[in-house]
Order: sequence, then structure tokens, then C-alpha cells
Amino acid sequence: MTKILNVSKLTKRYSSGTKELTVLDTISFSIDAGDTFAIVGPSGSGKTTLLGLCAGLDRVSEGEITLCGKPLSTLDEDGRAQLRNDKVGFIFQDFQLLPTLTALENVSVPLELRGDANANQVARELLEKVGLAKRHDHYPTQLSGGEQQRVALARAFSNAPEILFADEPTGNLDEETGEKVIKLLFDLNKEMGTTLVIVTHDLDLAAMNHKVLRLKGGKIVANETSVAS
Ligand code: ADP
Ligand code: MG
Repeated sequence: MTKILNVSKLTKRYSSGTKELTVLDTISFSIDAGDTFAIVGPSGSGKTTLLGLCAGLDRVSEGEITLCGKPLSTLDEDGRAQLRNDKVGFIFQDFQLLPTLTALENVSVPLELRGDANANQVARELLEKVGLAKRHDHYPTQLSGGEQQRVALARAFSNAPEILFADEPTGNLDEETGEKVIKLLFDLNKEMGTTLVIVTHDLDLAAMNHKVLRLKGGKIVANETSVAS
């Protein structure tokens, strides 16, 4: 099976003043293309830091990350941005929609920036897929949390990513709304053949994934194949 992400002996340290904090300590794991992969662990265990590093948003202190066949250490900032643009999608706990853009624009503008001549049409189709065909002209403040996360899903899938990173995607949603968003996420994932990496506190959600990685204090304490899969 092709590895879409390979993390080898990754260490990340932050320094503040004279103190150095090891946030991730010699982490190694890999993810098969098309797999669904959960990362769980207590608050502060390094989950968000790990996602950011895997997506090339930040540099490792030691070790190597290979994303979609590219060792990230061989790419400069522009190269990493290009790789993200082409192959990576993101979903965040707090949605991160642009407040001055409508739902449609939040999806279409990134497509336009990528030079998609059909940005508007593609964005309309994506919003229809997430059940928001009638909310195109609404601004984020006019949408519920669940609706905002569905716009974020449409945006995340707009470049047909090979791999999608979701950082606590249901963390700000009530249980029922969260379940609907997750169903949509897994449906879109299946339809598009995306690899899914989900950080979550929700053990039921974690168990829906094929593999579960447990972090504690910046170390891997378990890397299991889910019993549910
Ligand atoms: P999680 O997502 O599991 O809650 P994080 O990855 O956000 O954990 O944070 C892990 C640890 O790294 C925390 O102790 C946090 O304070 C620290 N940390 C995260 N980002 C930075 C940063 N930019 N500078 C210094 N410390 C950081
Ligand atoms: Mg976090």
C-alpha cells in the first residue's frame, strides 16, 4: 500500500527564553493512501502541533516528514505552500471562514485563487453536496455552527485533496450536529477517495477510523487498528 504520509523520528521543540519545551518526542508512524486515521490524546499532548507539521505549516526540530511522496525538508516555504494548495485540505474546530465573504465566496475564492475558471459553478455544486444550496449569500455570522462547518467542508474538498487534516472538527458543535457533520465528512471522503486524518477527543468518532494513534505528553502511547473497522 502506498504511504501518503510518513513521519520518521519527528521531534519538535519550542524555546521560550532559556527554557526549551519538547512538544513532540521522537514520533514515527505512517498512513496508507485512502485510509482514515484518528489522533487522540489529552489537551496539550501535541495533536495540533503534529497536524501542523504534517501539513508543512511549521518546521520540525528533528526527523523527517514525507507528504505525498515529498520529503518536506527538501521544500522551501513556497514549495510547501504549493504542495498544500494542490493536495491538502483542512478543517478546524473554529471553522475559520472569512467573515467578510458569503458562504459561496468562502468556497469559490480559494478556487479562483487556484486559477479555476469554473470556480463559481464548482463552489455551487459543493455547497449543494453539503446541503447549503439555499444559503449561498449568507455570511458566516448568519449561519449556525453546524452550517459554518459544512461550508468549511465544502471549501476543504474544493481542491479534491489527496489528504485532509481535521483538527477537532466537532469540538464546537453539539452532539447531534457533530454527528451530521461527521457523516458528511466520511461520505465526501469516500466519494473523493481522500485520506482522512482526524484529531478528536471523541472516542466514538475515533473508533470510526481505521487506525487510532494515541499521544500523551508528546509521545506515542498506542498505534492501533480500530476494532470497528
Ligand atoms: P493539543 O492540540 O494536543 O492540545 P498542542 O499541539 O496545541 O496540543 O500543544 C502541545 C504543547 O505545545 C502545549 O504545551 C502548548 O502549550 C505547546 N505549544 C504549542 N504551540 C506552541 C508555540 N508556538 N510556542 C510554544 N509552545 C507551544
Ligand atoms: Mg489542539
